[in-house]
Amino acid sequence: MKCLFCDQPITEIITWSSLFILSSQNTHPPICDQCNQKLELITGEQCIICSRPFSKLDPKFRKKDLCNDCYNWEQNPEWQGLLTQNISIFHYNDFLKELLAQFKFRGDHELVKIFAEPIQTKFKQTFDQKNSPILIPVPLSSERQYERGFNQALSLANLIEKQPIEEILERSHTEKQSKKKRSERLLADSPFHLKPDTNPKHYKNKNLLIIDDIYTTGTTLRQIAKVLQSLSPNSIKSLTLARS
Ligand SMILES: [Zn+2]
Ligand SMILES: [Zn+2]
Repeated sequence: MKCLFCDQPITEIITWSSLFILSSQNTHPPICDQCNQKLELITGEQCIICSRPFSKLDPKFRKKDLCNDCYNWEQNPEWQGLLTQNISIFHYNDFLKELLAQFKFRGDHELVKIFAEPIQTKFKQTFDQKNSPILIPVPLSSERQYERGFNQALSLANLIEKQPIEEILERSHTEKQSKKKRSERLLADSPFHLKPDTNPKHYKNKNLLIIDDIYTTGTTLRQIAKVLQSLSPNSIKSLTLARS
């Protein structure tokens, strides 16, 4: 077996227990140890909304349990309480940047398998049967989807087994940013809307989980949360592979 990313052969230490595991299900990650070690899990104290690790944040940008950015979002009545939590798995380090570039921009779709185990584990740690959410992948514009051949957010959502995935969002063609003030622009120029055949009753009081690859400024996820809010769900959270 070869590492999906660097093509080096993966040497497996065969023990009786690994033989047993191999015979029941193949659980070995399709990545070599050297690459695997470059994936940095987010651990330790984090912003309770966006998962930003405080270890990598200057304390002056921290407001109690929140990072400065989330604090500012929550101060704004337009955005307050919309996205209750973003759960991120990895630090967006140079290695993951490279890995995601190969996955998304060079169309190496196989690489998604590398994220199967981490995303399933995180999902199981975070949600139980009672608060089990509907997964909503962030859509690409149709032009982008055509160029790329797949939507990475949907591919990631597909890794979470046995959860309903609903592609109820559409993204309009991304236009050049206008000269309005940032806060106005965020509201007026949201590129997201619900597909016209979305039945709001189906989502009322449900838990919704937006799926995307990277949390950067949180703007995209909040614009989506704003759209989803019209469905009166019980909660809107997001799960992202990486926190930059
Ligand atoms: Zn490797
Ligand atoms: Zn935050």
